[in-house]
Amino acid sequence: MKVTATLSVSPIEKVNVAGHSIYIKRDDLLNTHFSGNKARKFAYYLQQNQDLANITHLVSYGSIQANSLYSLAALAFLKGWQLNYYVSRIPTWLKDSTLGNYGQAIALGANIIELDDDLLSSMNINSAVKTENLDSIMASFSKNLPSNTLFIPEGGRHSLAQIGINTLAQEVADYCHNHRLFENHNKIQIMFPSGTGTTALFLQTWFKENNVSIEVLTCPCVGDESYLEKQFNELNSNKSHWPTILKNSKKFHFGKINQSHYQLWHQLLQETEIEFDLLYDPIGWQCLLEYLESDSSEKITASSSSAIFYLHQGGLVGNQTMLPRYKRKYPEMF
Ligand SMILES: *Cc1c(COP(=O)(O)O)cnc(C)c1O
Repeated sequence: MKVTATLSVSPIEKVNVAGHSIYIKRDDLLNTHFSGNKARKFAYYLQQNQDLANITHLVSYGSIQANSLYSLAALAFLKGWQLNYYVSRIPTWLKDSTLGNYGQAIALGANIIELDDDLLSSMNINSAVKTENLDSIMASFSKNLPSNTLFIPEGGRHSLAQIGINTLAQEVADYCHNHRLFENHNKIQIMFPSGTGTTALFLQTWFKENNVSIEVLTCPCVGDESYLEKQFNELNSNKSHWPTILKNSKKFHFGKINQSHYQLWHQLLQETEIEFDLLYDPIGWQCLLEYLESDSSEKITASSSSAIFYLHQGGLVGNQTMLPRYKRKYPEMF
């Protein structure tokens, strides 16, 4: 298997969705193995060799189907490190899968470790606390790791992630300058859905600190708005650097099959010929389209208009397991 460390400058395309003209920043095209914001968040580790010369192991944790699992596996593969990735449970239906983030990470040599009762008791942890506290279990576990082991928190939520996200910010700002968008539009916004909120927060921070007037719009996917604000606050307590949070009017459970999500995903595929991710993107697009149709978004007039970007954050390997789940549940939609 060939894995390369190079991240290209991702292209920007103009598409029409539901009658709206939108620029798509194609971070899904950065590199075959490192897509979207995970590539941006791990760019520092990809490009850095000197400071990591003694590293032989990589430890992380999170959801069994996370896009970050696949990207971390590729990072470890490329560097010749062993990835030990901790999860609270491996569902039986997934165990033999060779597809998706889980199957593809194993193909890249990842060691996926279930925090079962034996392992927890060897770590002196009561199994009752496991699921709610994967974060804190791993935070204390990480303090006792040997110096040859690099620890990256769930979803790449760490301050070094800023380095790669700054590059993304610079690319978007350069595009806007080169295409005279600042002169021709009175407002420029970039929308994308958040998990940990790391990408949104660091991107908005860079724009503010560099006096680039681009507003970051986002929406929560894994928790509610207050959860997302809490995440922002952990990374930067200066509220003026926080992205704008759009409301989700529709109820959903993150990671669960959702008919309207599939329908929107399919509509996007037809209208733009771009494949989006099935976990986050339908939520992001739903929020964006609702916002564009609401009064709070600036309507296009003869003299002034707003330009809107949508950031494609990759994650397409996850569709390999999501699509069969949809096919099983709603065969009539296929
Ligand atoms: C990880 C991921 C997100 C969430 O990114 P955060 O920086 O954690 O908010 C969104 N979309 C895709 C496709 C992802 O892989």
